[in-house]
Order: sequence, then structure tokens, then C-alpha cells
Amino acid sequence: MDELLIYFSDMPTLHRTALLVGGLSFFFLFESLAPFFTKKHNWWKHTGINLFFTLTTIIVNFAMAFLLLQSADWVVAHNFGIMQMIDLPIWISILIGLMVMDFVGAWLIHYIEHHVTWMWKFHLIHHTDQHVDTFSANRHHPGESVFRFAFTILAVFVAGAPVWMVFIYQSVSLVMSQFNHSNISFPLWLDKILCLVIATPHMHRVHHHYRMPYSDTNYGNIFSIWDRIFQTFVRVDNRKLTYGMDTHMDVKSTENIVEMLKIPFQSYRPRIEYESEEKL
Ligand SMILES: [Zn+2]
Repeated sequence: MDELLIYFSDMPTLHRTALLVGGLSFFFLFESLAPFFTKKHNWWKHTGINLFFTLTTIIVNFAMAFLLLQSADWVVAHNFGIMQMIDLPIWISILIGLMVMDFVGAWLIHYIEHHVTWMWKFHLIHHTDQHVDTFSANRHHPGESVFRFAFTILAVFVAGAPVWMVFIYQSVSLVMSQFNHSNISFPLWLDKILCLVIATPHMHRVHHHYRMPYSDTNYGNIFSIWDRIFQTFVRVDNRKLTYGMDTHMDVKSTENIVEMLKIPFQSYRPRIEYESEEKL
């Protein structure tokens, strides 16, 4: 156990890169062998755009990483946050740390992004993807990457997460995001069992439906319990879904990097209200 914590205390950048590339490769292979949707599209163009936004996400996170590490050292030095204040067996402490970081650093900021207009205009780029697959996981506007990062720091303070906990969380979060965005097909009964605890592809696809109320459900990244607790959890037949966002369905702009980067600085386009949505 100690060796694991020592490893995650100083996880090499090369290993983190290998996890990113390895995860994408694994789920891409899975998607190719057993795809859920088989709709044809320009895969190279689509993936190129999503890899561009993955790269900007990495750059933003890398540039600000020192803030995260300093925060983690500070909470340990000052005995601050849940993991520092409550003395629990290490496995329980890790699980609680992971849950708190997933809630504050992913679910909560994601929910806020959907309800605060200026944040939504940044997060919208993630939702304009009309062919969601594992490469969509990090399709984030660089501006969104900044305020998501701020909530990861907030999560460190609430959880009292040491550096090793931060790296464990980021590793699990990365792979889970690749998993729940992946266009993979596997038995529904297995998905239902997994979904009792974690956010599965069947669950997260609903979040990428092009209209409300479905786009405002299933926010979870690692755990599905937050959506169950806050009553934003739904199960929908995934075959009925259409990816994208009703305000931005023009493929010419949603597959154009410059157009995507400009969206937060353009006038706000309200989404179609709940009442007019047909039930799926
Ligand atoms: Zn969203």
C-alpha cells in the first residue's frame, strides 16, 4: 500500500501521458470492434478537432499544475480537509477522497456550467460534438479548462487531498471520462449493474442529447450516485438520442476550431425550453 502511495506521490509525466494515450487507444479499439452508433462521419476531421481541444486542456492543466501541488501540500501541512481531519483506514480514506473530489471537481462544476450563462457558453463547445466517442472526453474550451481547474483546487481543500490523492483522482477521472464518452457497445444488463456505482456510457450519452431536459441530466463522471442524490439521473433508450446542441447544429461551425473558440464571446442563444421537448 505504501508503495502505491509513494508511486502516486510522484507519478512520472511519462506515465500520465501513457495513461492518456493508452486509455484512448484501448477505448478506440473497443469502439472499432463493437461500436454502439455506426453512423458514418469524417472521423479524421472530428478526431483532429477533439485532439486539438485535448491538447489545450493538457496545456492549461500543465501550466497551473504547481497551484494544485501547492494546495495539496498546504492541506497536509495545516491538517485541513476531510482526509486530514478524520483518521480512517487508508482504503476508506482513499474512497472518500475520490468521492469528494469527483463531486466538487467534476459533478458540481459541471452542474454549475449548465446553469450559469457565461460558463455555459464555454461548456457548450463540449456539447456541440455530434459524434461523441472516447476522443470527445476532453473536448473543452481552454477557458472552461481554467474554471474546471479552479474547482479541482477547491476539491483538494474540501477533501484534504495529499498529492498522491490528487494523482489517483486525476488518473481515475481521466480513464472514466474516456470510458463514459466511448461509443462502445456492451450488454445492457452489465451496464445497469455498473451504473449502480459508476457513470457508464449508457448513462452519459443521455447528457449529450441535443435538447433539454436530457442535456441537463446525468452529469456524473466517476460515480453515478451524485445524479441519483440530486435527482438528475435518468435512463433513456440510447438509440433514440441525437448528439449535439439545438442552438449549434450547423456542422460547418461545430467542426471548425476557430468558430468553436469564438462561441463564449458571441451573443447567448437560449436553448429550447423543457415543455417543447418530446419524451424519449
Ligand atoms: Zn455538460
